[in-house]
Amino acid sequence: GKPKVAIVYGGKSAEYEVSLQTAFSVINAIDKEKYEVLPVHITNKGRWVEGHVIAGALEYKEQLLLDENPTAVSANEWLTPSNINASKHKPDIVFPLLHGPNGEDGTVQGLFELLDIAYVGSGVAGSAVAMDKVLAKDIFRAHGIPQAAYLAFTKYEWTEQREHILAELEGLIGYPCFVKPANLGSSIGISKSHDRKGFMGSVELAFQFDQKVVVEEALEAREIEIGVIGNDELELSTIGEIQSGSDFYDYESKYQDGETNLIIPAMVEEETLAQLQTLAKKAYKALNCSGLSRVDCFVRTSDHKVFVNEVNTMPGFTLFSMFPLLWKHTGVEYRQLIDRLIRLGIERHQKRS
Ligand code: ADP
Ligand code: MG
Ligand code: MG
Repeated sequence: GKPKVAIVYGGKSAEYEVSLQTAFSVINAIDKEKYEVLPVHITNKGRWVEGHVIAGALEYKEQLLLDENPTAVSANEWLTPSNINASKHKPDIVFPLLHGPNGEDGTVQGLFELLDIAYVGSGVAGSAVAMDKVLAKDIFRAHGIPQAAYLAFTKYEWTEQREHILAELEGLIGYPCFVKPANLGSSIGISKSHDRKGFMGSVELAFQFDQKVVVEEALEAREIEIGVIGNDELELSTIGEIQSGSDFYDYESKYQDGETNLIIPAMVEEETLAQLQTLAKKAYKALNCSGLSRVDCFVRTSDHKVFVNEVNTMPGFTLFSMFPLLWKHTGVEYRQLIDRLIRLGIERHQKRS
């Protein structure tokens, strides 16, 4: 029969809603002549619910949620190795459309490794390291990949050695600077501080979301993003630019204010484009990514020097998100893109087993 693709979406995460939008887009677009689609909804309370097979188009996003009824098989059961191997619903591949911790960070990926099921995207290590901004930066540094100056510390260190950290920060980085929780996305918990007082507040905010924070020099720069797909052989998309109406690309500008422009293709000099392309491949490989990632970069306004900001292993994936739009402009339509990613996931699984 047709390969069965389990689309896992939702999740106990701040990015639950975003994931529903994505699942709605992907389930509607995926080629149902070719694949059998099994939606698996993780509720925002963390319960896994396997839905009915979806053969046609979804009319409303709500249809995705209707499957959350008490008789549906709970995926806590669904996901035990004995169960999944016996199930007539055993997927040939999982497409985890989850963002942030517990979805994009290697945990879900580890579960599918243990179950010996193929999945779309990066493996355990790549997902985990890309999610942790500090680990990612340390690896970029080891590879000589240019990035903003940074400093990381834990909540414990902040309590014990505050004066030392402040001295180091003010010597190394100064103000303004960005303060970020180490493991998160969607700009949640991130703020820009302009002086020591502001910095104290920013650190408190970031520590509400993680035990570890990273502080970076604030670059005066354009934000340019590139799509990368592939396992061994990598393909790059056109580049795109984020122009947000606010001080930086915060949560509101990502999802709410409607004032952010995605400019595709971004206009840069040939030389800068070549540097961005080299950087994107280097960053992707350094973090051991596979399948797909969106590599987010900065091009400094003063001298056009390129820097990596971060690598997102499960970038926004609705029809209107940067990653699919970049590929569309490159000549790969949304449906084809889904197909390519599924094939890359299966290929990776086969090579490893
Ligand atoms: P997230 O993973 O939450 O998207 P980012 O590290 O991408 O976190 O930071 C969110 C936004 O903050 C970026 O898109 C950019 O607008 C701004 N930003 C982050 N770091 C810097 C920096 N070092 N210099 C200038 N702007 C930054
Ligand atoms: Mg991110
Ligand atoms: Mg980002």
